[in-house]
Amino acid sequence: MTEGFLPFPPAATAGQALAEVDTPALLLDLDAFERNLARMQAAADAAGVHLRPHAKAHKCPAVALAQMARGAVGVCCQKASEALPFLLAGVRDVHVSNELASPLKARALAQWARQARLSVCVDDAAQVDTLAEATREAGSSLDVLVEIDIGQGRCGVADAAAVQRLLQRLAPHPQLSFAGLQAYQGGLQHLRSRAERREQALRAAARAGEVVTALENAGVRCATVTGGGTGSVEWDLESGVYTELQPGSYAFMDRDYADNEAGALRFEHALFVATRVMSTAAGTHAVVDAGLKSLTLECGLPVLWPADGALAYTQANDEHGLVAGAPLPALGSLLRLVPGHCDPTFNLHDEIVAFRGERVEAVWPVAARGLSR
Ligand code: PLP
Ligand code: MN
Repeated sequence: MTEGFLPFPPAATAGQALAEVDTPALLLDLDAFERNLARMQAAADAAGVHLRPHAKAHKCPAVALAQMARGAVGVCCQKASEALPFLLAGVRDVHVSNELASPLKARALAQWARQARLSVCVDDAAQVDTLAEATREAGSSLDVLVEIDIGQGRCGVADAAAVQRLLQRLAPHPQLSFAGLQAYQGGLQHLRSRAERREQALRAAARAGEVVTALENAGVRCATVTGGGTGSVEWDLESGVYTELQPGSYAFMDRDYADNEAGALRFEHALFVATRVMSTAAGTHAVVDAGLKSLTLECGLPVLWPADGALAYTQANDEHGLVAGAPLPALGSLLRLVPGHCDPTFNLHDEIVAFRGERVEAVWPVAARGLSR
């Protein structure tokens, strides 16, 4: 029932001029995005490593399909509920790169696994039992990866002996196939110095390699070793340990990643928050319409783009942002911000306004937005 009230107009429609987009809006520069996808895929292909980009970065099926059209083998999701929009969009190979926190999630995955290839991580025997029961009930099978801790100190078992104990727990359940290891070290991704990142990435990969070798010596083959992120990927590729990589942010490049000293694999800013100047009454600063509900600040403030150093986004309130500098932008000016951190920023938006040059080319739903269970 609309009671005669017209719906609020969309922020953008395909074909319109970019300058007419209503704000705040999440913008994707398709030319830069496609170059980022091509660079990462070419690097993975050259190393003979599968690319399984992380969809938690964007939560958008259209982005996943663009990655798969260029050779990605599937996607990662971080949460069980997050996988469904990708399955519905036709992605048939989803790895949940995480342990599941409740049997309800295992039952959902097991149901979906009747129609798609799904995999999930474990680091405890109780999780194996839950997956076994869910798949038995659903009459489906799941690939299981044992997560190992290679230095982040988050999830994952410590060594090959612990992996072997989980393999024994898996053994009575033919519907659960041991697919290999997940080894991800998030703590090193934003080390600013390239040399330090390289050293830590190679050390983390070496820890994973030691577990793989110990398992091989015990007669256990790891078909898949999956992990890696945007900050470590160039060394993950050359490590010889990983068969599959999971970077997500490379497609977009937020400010936090751009603050890293770049390596040989370079990516461009493709993601922006479009915002307009809504008040200049103070005279000392401009107020824009993008605040904490349009971008997140846990990795620092956004920067204005293109960066000419004249203006800075200095403060965010819920629905206001302050811009300082000279000359101040006029009331109504359309500005572009590079968000501090792409993943949680995507999660604040219903749609991505994908543009090429000065035209909106498509509007893509962020279909997995808010799906955090
Ligand atoms: N894999 C896992 C398990 C992660 O948690 C993350 C990010 O936190 C990534 C891959 C990819 O990260 P990024 O977006 O930094 O490339
Ligand atoms: Mn992130």
